[in-house]
Amino acid sequence: MKILFCSLFVLISLPLFAQEPSAKRIASHIRYLASDNMKGRGTGSAENAKAARYVAKQFKKYGLKPLGTDGYFQSFTAKVRRVVVPDSLREAKNVIGFLDNNAPNTIVIGAHYDHIGMGRQGSSLDSLPQGKIHNGADDNASGVAGLLELAQYFSKNNVTEPYNFLFVAFGAEELGLVGSRYFLNNPTLPLKDMNFMICMDMIGRYNPERGVGIGGYGTSDAWPTVFNGVESSIKFFTDRAGNGGSDNAAFYAKQIPVLFFHTGGHPDYHKPTDDPEKIDVQAEEAILKLEINLIENALKLPKMNFTAVK
Ligand SMILES: [Zn+2]
Repeated sequence: MKILFCSLFVLISLPLFAQEPSAKRIASHIRYLASDNMKGRGTGSAENAKAARYVAKQFKKYGLKPLGTDGYFQSFTAKVRRVVVPDSLREAKNVIGFLDNNAPNTIVIGAHYDHIGMGRQGSSLDSLPQGKIHNGADDNASGVAGLLELAQYFSKNNVTEPYNFLFVAFGAEELGLVGSRYFLNNPTLPLKDMNFMICMDMIGRYNPERGVGIGGYGTSDAWPTVFNGVESSIKFFTDRAGNGGSDNAAFYAKQIPVLFFHTGGHPDYHKPTDDPEKIDVQAEEAILKLEINLIENALKLPKMNFTAVK
């Protein structure tokens, strides 16, 4: 009887909680994207395209509408500028999925999925980078795992929110925000309908002394209301600036309020040693729950105004 009761409880509780961010799923996304087989997801590589297909496959599984120009994909060309290479023009893609709640305005959630490959596109901090796999587990398989977990949460929670959601995995960030700038100059949804943008870039190396940094606090005077009373099991701090660090800068430039989540720099940054086993997936799960709390607070408010940060 007890066993029957327990299995019934499991059956009943599964659909209620299955959409919550899970450390186990976060770990599996990161292990896949940052494995040696993916050769660092350098822009233009077959492995970079494979990572884009992986994201599209998950978006499809969550039931998101394709909102690229070719299904989920939006293709563009990115140029390698930091080093001289014969193949400086590279084919790249953004991956775009839409959760349509029939609302007038949309919340954008983004993370870049490219990294610096085999150390031949510049910006490696290794002394002899060429031919070494730069796995990019923190930068930015961790952010993509976050993007996928939020996409699955909002598409599977059986709530029709008062905003739509656009989930974007950006390409060619490491070549200078090429994917996010391309997207904003060629938007597949009107910019005026975007409420705000949440960016995740390096959220896998939580340091309990520092806490997770949240940039962009000064980009709308609605953010203090959103943060009011928010509690979290992890430590966090806010920073007013929204125009640096990652793809959020491209949205800030178009006067869209942003928040930028980042667990900070570390000695493996842009080196071949940014590996999956160094990611704190429990802390990342807690960071994502904090993001959900903040987004759910923002759902109660009207569309935000933008304020420039001096
Ligand atoms: Zn990054």
